[in-house]
Amino acid sequence: MQLHNTGAEFFVPDGVDPATALARTTHLAVGAHPDDIPIMAYHGILECFGRDDRWFLGVTVTDGAGSPRSDRYADHTDGAMRLVRIVEERKAAAAGEYTAALLLDYTSLAAKDPDGRSIVEELAAILDATHPDVLYTHNLADKHDTHVAVALRTIEAVRAIGPDRRPRAMFGCEVWRDLDWLVDSDKVAFDVSERQNLAAALIGVYDSRISGGKRYDQATAGRRLAHATFSESHAVDDASAVIYAMDLTPLIQQPSLEPAQYVAAHLDRLRSEIMERIARLQRPGG
Ligand SMILES: [Zn+2]
Repeated sequence: MQLHNTGAEFFVPDGVDPATALARTTHLAVGAHPDDIPIMAYHGILECFGRDDRWFLGVTVTDGAGSPRSDRYADHTDGAMRLVRIVEERKAAAAGEYTAALLLDYTSLAAKDPDGRSIVEELAAILDATHPDVLYTHNLADKHDTHVAVALRTIEAVRAIGPDRRPRAMFGCEVWRDLDWLVDSDKVAFDVSERQNLAAALIGVYDSRISGGKRYDQATAGRRLAHATFSESHAVDDASAVIYAMDLTPLIQQPSLEPAQYVAAHLDRLRSEIMERIARLQRPGG
């Protein structure tokens, strides 16, 4: 497969030929920026780690050139940062034993352009070539424009391929806004308690992000622990790390379902749950 942009990168950690790397894919994540995938889609990486019957493909849409920088990266130009982030993405792919990492090298501006077709077409071609069982991307209630744009392009891409090539399940995961607010029946909870050493390694390789002044490594582990502890007020923790996702599968099974309408129904259920509890517990007239 020929990637669209000349600066795009197709990295295969174990060195098999690219066609084989794509064909063996079972779990695929589409992230906006380098480092989003280990934060949001660690469940997929874990499902495939150390196995020869499941393989994880990481697809990163933008180049990450505009990321904030400090410490030893303070004087890096956008071009130098882009190269640093490619190397970091390769390190994560190697540590996580991905089948491959595809860095599509679009600008953030291109990703956010609602009329830009090349990203949708390229994602559709990748999905058609790999036919993954499970697809992860950003959740539609994320507060970062590029993340939501990438989630929308990914939904469009799935809808553009033949129904028999679409993934069995699609999940919108957490980066810039967690999904603790979903009512429990809307939550998809991934137990990622296993191999927290691997989880730490995968985020730890993004030194330019963490030394840039953001402790994504600690915050990600903290969020997963908090979800595990606060998920059930009356039960003993049986997981020590949980990632929440919004099930996006209905959006790929029902092409007429609007993403905004789908998310609005989640918000309505949250509102009803909160209002119903207050009404039930409040003293009449109090
Ligand atoms: Zn991001």
